Amino acid sequence: MKNSVFLFFAFIYFSNLPAQTLNLYYESIVANTSSSNILNDLKAFEEFGVKQLGTSSLISTQNWISSRYQSLGYTDIVIQPFTHNNKTSNNIIITKTGTLYPNTFLIVDAHYDTINGPGTNDNGTGTVLLLELARLLKDVDTEYSIKFIHFSGEENGLIGSKYFVKNVVIPQKLDIKLVFNIDEVGGVAGMVNDTVVCERDLGNPKSNNEASDAATIILAHCMELYSNLKSEISHAYSSDYMPFEENGEIITGLYEKNISPVNHKSNDNLANMDATYFYEVTKGAIGAALEFSGAYDSSSKTKG
Ligand SMILES: [Zn+2]
Repeated sequence: MKNSVFLFFAFIYFSNLPAQTLNLYYESIVANTSSSNILNDLKAFEEFGVKQLGTSSLISTQNWISSRYQSLGYTDIVIQPFTHNNKTSNNIIITKTGTLYPNTFLIVDAHYDTINGPGTNDNGTGTVLLLELARLLKDVDTEYSIKFIHFSGEENGLIGSKYFVKNVVIPQKLDIKLVFNIDEVGGVAGMVNDTVVCERDLGNPKSNNEASDAATIILAHCMELYSNLKSEISHAYSSDYMPFEENGEIITGLYEKNISPVNHKSNDNLANMDATYFYEVTKGAIGAALEFSGAYDSSSKTKG
């Protein structure tokens, strides 16, 4: 839901910073990212139509997402209802338990509700990226636990993510390592889409800004290591990481560099985005999620 906000802050070009090391294990997982899976999932998401709060399309999309996790073999799937303007909708929260820090969570999130159109870019891309990430990480050991969260109500004002922070994060004192938000990463058809924007926290409170900056630098490096894209760093705004940010959590996020002229319109569809670009964003994001979650190859570990 970003199109009403100006980009006030200058982009920082990133390639001059020292590079992180490529992890060959992560690279081998990223290499299994399936462009046909992604394309099929984007088409399926598009076919559900306009996913506004209170529509059967939104419910069908929710059922599609949760059934995908079930068929991947995930068992900890929570449907979290909330009500907004007398309309009930659901966040979908899937948890994968970490080996070393089971009570500390990497949250990877994307909203699946749309407004006015099918929202194939905003935010079918984030939705599908999470599905592919979850597929590739299913049997990978990670030191930290991961919560894959598909929020609803984003387009109505971050309703689902606000609800989750207020009703889960705060009362449960959830220990969050990082919130990694994916929103609208499909690029623009007919343009050269070769750069991804990595978003850091420049807002209040400022106590979490330095850690967000550090995580976003890691993200920008990973995007360049595990995809053929260039990275830029900008600031976070107007998406589901903001309620976490306001609660003092460390956040980062991805956003397209060429900003879709059709988001929130009836023709936010596959024909108006760049599926090849999205495939590259997905690869980079999977590399970053492996890094942030402390993924490791258990088969190569020797007993000391
Ligand atoms: Zn969005």
